[in-house]
Amino acid sequence: MDMGKHDFELAELIARIKANDNRLVALQVPEGLKMQALDLMDQIEEETSSKVVLAADPCYGACDLVHDKMKMMGVELVAHMGHSQMNIDSGMPTQFIDVTYDGDPDLAKVLPILEKHREFSAKRFAAANAAIIAGSENEEALGTPALSEEEAQELFLDAVGRKTPLTGNKLGLVGSIQHLHMLPTFKARLEKAGFEVTIPIGGERLSFPGQVLGCNYSGDDSSIGHYLFLGSGDFHPIGLVLHTGKPLALLDPYINEAGEMSLERIERILRQRFGLIMAIQDAKSYGILIGEKPGQMRRTLALKMKRMLEKHGKKGYLLALEHVGPDLIDFYPVDAFVNTACPRIAIDDSVRYDKPMLTPYELEVALGEKKWEDGYLFDEIP
Ligand code: SF4
Repeated sequence: MDMGKHDFELAELIARIKANDNRLVALQVPEGLKMQALDLMDQIEEETSSKVVLAADPCYGACDLVHDKMKMMGVELVAHMGHSQMNIDSGMPTQFIDVTYDGDPDLAKVLPILEKHREFSAKRFAAANAAIIAGSENEEALGTPALSEEEAQELFLDAVGRKTPLTGNKLGLVGSIQHLHMLPTFKARLEKAGFEVTIPIGGERLSFPGQVLGCNYSGDDSSIGHYLFLGSGDFHPIGLVLHTGKPLALLDPYINEAGEMSLERIERILRQRFGLIMAIQDAKSYGILIGEKPGQMRRTLALKMKRMLEKHGKKGYLLALEHVGPDLIDFYPVDAFVNTACPRIAIDDSVRYDKPMLTPYELEVALGEKKWEDGYLFDEIP
């Protein structure tokens, strides 16, 4: 990655600080950009009469805005970098800076994967239509024991929360915030390469077309048969496939590499989730985690979990935390945890905890309120 290709939009930020005559500004940057933070602080302090304080706690999303504690410190403005505004109010004047990355990866590298996915999803689309036309007769045919690998894969995908049949086979083009400005260019290139492309528009938590978050993939719809993600790492891709069950190709603008999210990997995660549900069958007491970060706080959901546990003769203790970590909760004398803070804590980090940690949906399955066979439901924050 060439760090110099990031645009931190400092000119706009400095103009705002000068116009407001701010004396104390907080800078909040995601973990991947923290190495740059001191340089940014120097630049702001050199060009304005403001002092800058770095909000140095871990920051993984716009759900985690600097709020009242910084106000008590006298901070007048927060510059939040690397994430877009979501549907929450931190109570602090905040300037959101996307930090776009000037990288233009080679589309040709991902085209063979996209063609394979398009073919797979076209068959799935055709099979869904055939099932509707032929009714139960065709469904029986799909359910015969002698499944081909492809059919088995399709049935697996249908188990991953995709309950509605496809109504189309478009390519959904999505990305992480640093690369969203490239989506229109890539849409045009993909259309030239013969793909029918849509840039999905999600709900209130998302600011831009094509944007995905680790906890929100609300732009997905049944006309999309497969995806291309412009970005790096596997955090967003894992969530997208867990949520949609659709094939996902990856193109990384930082390193100019293509790949795909392996369905085997998603299946492994699902097996692990099911194992946890089985492991808590005899659990009697639970810690119910409530996130204190403004965009993670799901109090109503936490209370619902407590009531549900009581209905089943079990005990639930509400535990509110700003940060969730093994050192902070493992010692409580409960049998398991249910997490209503960032959904990815339970999915991605559960092995770090001594006791089983489940999502609210998984607890509902464990208590018999929902059925696993109806399809895995990704824990989304709307
Ligand atoms: S995935 Fe977690 S950290 Fe990221 S925006 Fe959602 S709640 Fe915040």
